[in-house]
Amino acid sequence: MDPDLERLIRLQQIDTFTETARRRVADHPNLIAALDTRLESARAGLATAKEAAERGQAARRSIEKDLAAVQSRLAKYKDQLMEVKTNKEYQAMQKEIEVAQKEVGRLEDRLLEQMLANDDLAAAVKAADARLKDDQKAVEEERARLEKETASLEEELRRKAAARVEVASQLPADLLASYETIARNRRGQALAEARAGLCTACHVRLRPQVFNEVLANNTIHQCDSCQRILYFAGDTPSDAGAGASR
Ligand SMILES: [Zn+2]
Repeated sequence: MDPDLERLIRLQQIDTFTETARRRVADHPNLIAALDTRLESARAGLATAKEAAERGQAARRSIEKDLAAVQSRLAKYKDQLMEVKTNKEYQAMQKEIEVAQKEVGRLEDRLLEQMLANDDLAAAVKAADARLKDDQKAVEEERARLEKETASLEEELRRKAAARVEVASQLPADLLASYETIARNRRGQALAEARAGLCTACHVRLRPQVFNEVLANNTIHQCDSCQRILYFAGDTPSDAGAGASR
């Protein structure tokens, strides 16, 4: 292969990696922010569940208080029943006792319902607490992973920057300038693989003679249509153009 073409392929690999890695590093603050949001949501969930459980406990205490009041009233009526003088008074007192007993039954039903509801509310607090703990653990792990990834990408970017200086210094200035211009105009993609008679970047058919020369990888050809520098990567698809890591 033509040594300059080889250098151009290498340059493209470095630039493609660099672009992807920079984007990834730049995206990390957003990913961290998303983790914080996840934790905030879990914390808010727990707070809401606790508030609901506290309201449930307050409701229970209020019913118990009402029940105690009615029960004490009922006890008083029963005492008074012994002391009434007339039949009319007796019947009136019986009526009061009946009303109070119904009220006791009603409050006991409500108390039971509230206790069952409070069991559910307590279970919801427990679940929200477990979710928060899970999220805290997961977020901590993810944060550590992102920090590690950032450090390793930054280290790799430094190495790639040094490698790029070296490769660029070995290229003829006009060829490097062409590469830079094409890359600028083609979203960083200055090279294109030729395969099956086509430029794989813009899918335009190459002139047969051009394609044959590209197959040999001995001359620098640009695609007539997209201007990218063409190369042949062999029979297997190459990853020189996209996402190569070396
Ligand atoms: Zn093309």
